[in-house]
Amino acid sequence: MEKRVADLWVTEYQTKNMRLGLRIKEVLCNKDTPYQHLLVVDTLEYGKVMLLDGAIQITEKDEFTYHEMMAHILMCSHPNPRRVLVVGGGDGGTVREVVKHPSLEKVYLVDIDEEVINASRRYFPSVSCELDNEKVEIKPMDAIQFIKERKDFFDIVIVDSTDPVDFAEGLFKRDFYSDVFHALRQDGMMIAQTESPFAEADIVKDAYNEMSKVFPIVKMCWGAMPTYPTGMWTYTIGSKGPDPAKPLRDVPAKTKYYSRSLHEASFVLPGFVVQLLKGE
Ligand code: SAM
Repeated sequence: MEKRVADLWVTEYQTKNMRLGLRIKEVLCNKDTPYQHLLVVDTLEYGKVMLLDGAIQITEKDEFTYHEMMAHILMCSHPNPRRVLVVGGGDGGTVREVVKHPSLEKVYLVDIDEEVINASRRYFPSVSCELDNEKVEIKPMDAIQFIKERKDFFDIVIVDSTDPVDFAEGLFKRDFYSDVFHALRQDGMMIAQTESPFAEADIVKDAYNEMSKVFPIVKMCWGAMPTYPTGMWTYTIGSKGPDPAKPLRDVPAKTKYYSRSLHEASFVLPGFVVQLLKGE
C-alpha cells in the first residue's frame, strides 16, 4: 500500500458562497489577540500569509500590488506630501512605500492591534522593513479616536483597514470621513481600500457615496490584488483640491506594480463600476 500524507490547507471564506484555499507547509502563529484572531501560515503558492479573523491581509507574493497603489497614487499626485497618516496597515507595507518619497517628513502608523505589528516584524521582514525608519511614528490605538484629535495637520491619510466589521466598521462611515477632512491641511487627500465590486458591490458604492458627502472631489481607481476576493480591488479617494488621477512625479525608487502610466490608467473604470457608482 502506498504511504499516505495528510494535506494541510487554509480556507478563507471570501463571501458566504465563495472560498479560497491555499495548501500550507506550516502554521507559524495561531492565536487570539485582544482584538481579533491572528493566523500566519506558510503556503506553497503565496509564501507566508497573514489572516485576521479569517480574512487574508497580506501574502508575501502579491502584497506589493496593493501597498504600491495605497501609497503612490496620493504620494505622486499631492503637490508636496510631508505629513502622512496610515490608518490600520500594521503590517507596515504601506509605510514601506510611503517612505520612498523624499518630501516625507513624518508618517504616523495608527493600528489598533499592536500584535499585528509584532507578527509582521517577526514573520514578514520584507513588509515591515521600514517600521523603524526615523520618519515613522507608531501609535497602537483606535484610529477613529486618533483622528478626532488632529485638525489641519496631515497632507495625506491612507486608510489601510480590515473589512468593515467590528472596530473597523466606523472607518467606512461618513463621520469618519468628515473627521479625516478636518484633519487634512489645504490640498489634503485621503485614499481608502474599498473592496471588490464583484464581491461587495454595496460597500464600494456606499464608501463612494459617503465620501462624496464630505469631499468636493471624489474619484475611484482600481487594480489587481490576486488573493483578495475576486482579485479586482477598488480604492476611493477624497480630495480637497488636487486631482488624484494626475501624477505630478515618479516614485524615486524601485516599484514592481505602480508606474505613472498605470496610475493614469487605474482611474479608467469599467462600465459596470461606473453604473454601480451612479446607482443604475
Ligand atoms: N491590506 C489589508 C486588507 O485590505 O485586508 C489590510 C491590512 S492591515 C493588517 C489592516 C489593519 O487595520 C489591522 O491590523 C487592524 O488591526 C487595523 N484596524 C482595523 N480597524 C482599526 C481601527 N479602528 N483603528 C486602527 N486600526 C484598525
